[in-house]
This record gives sequence, C-alpha cells and structure tokens, in this order.
Amino acid sequence: MSGGDKLDFEIRPNPRPVDAAERAALMVDPGFGRVFTDHMVTARYAEGKGWYEARVEARAPIQMDPASAVLHYAQEIFEGLKAYRNADGTVTMFRPEANAERFSTSATRLAMPHLPEGAFVDSLRRLIDIDRDWIPTNGEDSLYLRPFMFANEVFLGVRPAMEYLYVVIASPVGSYFKNGIKPVNVWVSPDYTRAAPGGTGAAKCGGNYAASLLPQQQAAANGCDQVVFLDAVEQRWIDELGGMNIFFVYDDGTLVTPPLGTILPGITREAVMRLATDAGRAVIERPVAFDEWQRDAESGRIRETFACGTAAVITPIGEVRFEGGAFKLGDGGFGEVTMGLRKQLVDIQRGRTADPYGWVHKVL
Ligand SMILES: *Cc1c(COP(=O)(O)O)cnc(C)c1O
Repeated sequence: MSGGDKLDFEIRPNPRPVDAAERAALMVDPGFGRVFTDHMVTARYAEGKGWYEARVEARAPIQMDPASAVLHYAQEIFEGLKAYRNADGTVTMFRPEANAERFSTSATRLAMPHLPEGAFVDSLRRLIDIDRDWIPTNGEDSLYLRPFMFANEVFLGVRPAMEYLYVVIASPVGSYFKNGIKPVNVWVSPDYTRAAPGGTGAAKCGGNYAASLLPQQQAAANGCDQVVFLDAVEQRWIDELGGMNIFFVYDDGTLVTPPLGTILPGITREAVMRLATDAGRAVIERPVAFDEWQRDAESGRIRETFACGTAAVITPIGEVRFEGGAFKLGDGGFGEVTMGLRKQLVDIQRGRTADPYGWVHKVL
C-alpha cells in the first residue's frame, strides 16, 4: 500500500517461465489473444481499505466464488493498448496516459473505484519489463496489453460491489491483417443498437461487447467482417462499429466523424483527428445519417470510409451491406487518404518517424 498516485507492486517472478524455445515457437504466428506471457499484474480493492496486495506475479487462473458480483451483474471494465519494440531496440507504448484516463471514466460510469492513473501506467511498465522477452521483434507484431477490473465481492444484492480485482495480462499479437491489409465489408444492423443515450456506450465495459455479439454474428452471416451500429433513438445516425470508430472522407478532403456521446471515445480516433487537422484538413464531428452515407458514396462525394481502433489501427471499408442492398466506397479498394493516415500513425507508433505530439511513451 502507498499513498499518492502509485501502488507498491511486489514483484514475484514466475518460478517456471516458458522456456526460450517454446516461447519462440509460440511467437512465430501468435494471432490475436491466444498466446500469453509468463506474468500478470493483480491488485485488490476493498471499500474502506483502498488498494492493497498489488503484485506482479506468475500468470495463473483466478479463483472466484460463484457469487462474485461480476458473474451476475457484469460490473467490469477494460482497456487495450500495445507495446512496440522499435527498430532501435527501445520499447514504447502509445499514449498509455490516455488509456489510464479512460479507465477512470469507465470506472465512474460503472460505479467502480478509481485506480490512480499513475498506478495504471506503472502497472503496464512493470509487466512489460518483466515479460520483455515476449515483446515481438517482428516489425508488424506487438505486445497487446489488457488491463481490466471487475467486482469480486461475494454478494448477490444489486448495488456497486465493495471489493474489486484489477488485473493486467499481456499477449504477443500478430498483425491484425495476416496477409496484408485488406478493406473490410461491413453490415449495418437493421435491428440492434449498441448504445443508447444515457447508457454505457462511452464506457469500455465488457457488457457492451456482450450485446454486440449477436449482431456481429449476423454481420458474418451476411458475408461481412464487422457490424456498423446506428443510433438507438432514430436508427438513422451512424454510431460506430462493434469495437472501432468510423471516419468519412469527402471529395474536398474533409474528414467527418460522429460526435462523442454514445460512442466510445477512441484514442486512435483522437489521434487521427489531430493528424488530419495538422495536415490542413477540415475535421468535423457531426452526425452522419445512413442514407446520407449511401447517397454520398454512390455520388462520389464520400470517397472513402475507414474504421479505427488500437487492434487494427486504421482499416479501410470496402463495401457496406444492409437489409435490401449494398454499396461500395470508391472502387472498393484502398483509399489514398485512409492509407496515408494509416502510414503516418503507424510510423509514429513504431518510432519510424518523429513524434511531435509526445504520444510515444518510452518503457525500455
Ligand atoms: C476500444 C474501442 C474503440 C477504439 O478505441 P481505441 O482507443 O482507439 O482503441 C472503439 N469502439 C469501441 C466500442 C471500443 O471498445
């Protein structure tokens, strides 16, 4: 325990880490989220006591009582970000302070305690440090970090829990697009929405994802990679994808993206807005109606549309399918503006170009 913004993490190295040969084999083609490092961070919270037992320890199953609150009422939040090994050997994260801040905002919405933002960033640094051998050296791969927190009080009453567990696990991941980037097809859900005004859309909580799985399944059944959600009130305005924000590129070079409110405030979204603004583009946050998207894509007024988020960075959208039709963006291929922004952002994240924004956080 400690006061201030940090926790004292007790370091308990894994006595039986995966041996080097096995680790190398696991990291040849890690995919996404199926290979994990030797350690995890855990910290406990109890009402009246604060944070305690903060540790970096061997990654292991967590024992939970079947009456743990999260299993019944889904009081859970998470974050996702990546650590990169740069060409010069340094290891960096992209804007972890922004994830820390969003974790706090999510905690507020889910009536959970705040983890000090300094402790959040520190926990990531410590896990990366002890599991440094798991950070891929291949320039397309990275170490995905998954901090999360859930209610583990043993109590079935409906109220904010009085005990929580904060955990960070890490997973070496390959490039989101194994065989090179390719445009995705998206399905506009005709009947499901992901977030209503006053709901939890702006919080990064597992419950939002639970609700998105059925429409995502329907997207797949319609030959699409991702689902696009419309707003819950009029079922007319474009919100975002299941786990990515969306941008429209107009023929005059303007970028338009839906305003914050029910959507998740993506850190990639914010970075894209900044890069585009600094490149002299007009960047406008305003609602875009689905019929407007279709009409303007067909007339060529909207030239490109892309999705963005930590996992895939920036992904061009090639085709939009909906009940009763479909339309393409541009020639259904790679938009110039999309690919330019993607390269600019990836180059900053991977230390291939200067970072005038102070976004890159050096770890090792
Ligand atoms: C995490 C997430 C995003 C993307 O946020 P980034 O900070 O850019 O990774 C977008 N939409 C939803 C619903 C998300 O959960």
